[in-house]
Amino acid sequence: MIVHDGRSSLAVGVDVGGTKILAGLISEAGEVLRRMELPTRAGEADPCARIVEAIESLGAEGALPPVRGIGVGTAGQVEWRSGSIRHSSALLPGYTGTPLRQLLEDRFGLPALVDNDVNALAVAELRLGAGRGCRDFICVALGTGVGGAVVSGGRLMRGAWGGAGELGHLSVDRHGPRCICGSRGCLELYASGTGIAAGLKRRLEAAGLPADGADARAAVSGWLAGDDVHAASAVEDALDALGAAAASLAHALNPQRILIGGGVADAGEPFFAALQARFREHAMPSLAAGVELLPAVRGRDSGLIGAALQLWEDGAIGVGSREFS
Ligand SMILES: [Zn+2]
Repeated sequence: MIVHDGRSSLAVGVDVGGTKILAGLISEAGEVLRRMELPTRAGEADPCARIVEAIESLGAEGALPPVRGIGVGTAGQVEWRSGSIRHSSALLPGYTGTPLRQLLEDRFGLPALVDNDVNALAVAELRLGAGRGCRDFICVALGTGVGGAVVSGGRLMRGAWGGAGELGHLSVDRHGPRCICGSRGCLELYASGTGIAAGLKRRLEAAGLPADGADARAAVSGWLAGDDVHAASAVEDALDALGAAAASLAHALNPQRILIGGGVADAGEPFFAALQARFREHAMPSLAAGVELLPAVRGRDSGLIGAALQLWEDGAIGVGSREFS
């Protein structure tokens, strides 16, 4: 039992991924006051039942204080108004079609908001991170795949139903290899950890060299050291794909900042310097001028924090909502 108080400065945040689910009690200032972590057990357990378990486990240390509601950031594509899962990859079998918002509101009697996990990250960046004081920015999250979110005029751009920002599937080469999404030459194929590892492996095999241990980390350290042509080539390919995608995003959306986090962006300054050069090669000077390419702050809990902070987005609770006492 969690008590609802629409004026509370606290909310429950949940970050749902393919391997783990984080739940936390989060303050309006973004502090994590309680935190629990459960393995998702994707494929064995019902993801929704695991989410409920994660939220309930927050009460294990004693009853929770009254909260404003529950905010969820989840893997997959979310129909934002209804808070149901429109599509999820094979990472979370059985999750597609789950009316998650409704299930959580019924189960806990609290307002719930459900959004895509990178949108939740963007909310954390907007309120607490590298997007503070900036009304127009784009987040690109590099990891196993590539996720994205767009903030325009100080608000998340959600599109017709919530699917906006699927930036990993911007095609940067229409003659490129086939992607799982059905298109060709998607950004994710080059710039994700998986993509960089595959690029390095391909180059090593073509040169008749052993490709064991060819992962993204090895590629980035080889590129930074400047003594490995195959690693450098794989990372340069990722940078070029990212530069081209960032230019297209600048042309389409005229952002002030493009925030990039995770994966190869963890290489820091050399990565951003190289990316800046690639971005300027691809972008119209008038639209490239003044665009800042910056690292996302993106800490371990920023998805969790951003998920909860959705509850303070103007008017968000009212969207498609019922009455709560
Ligand atoms: Zn794709």
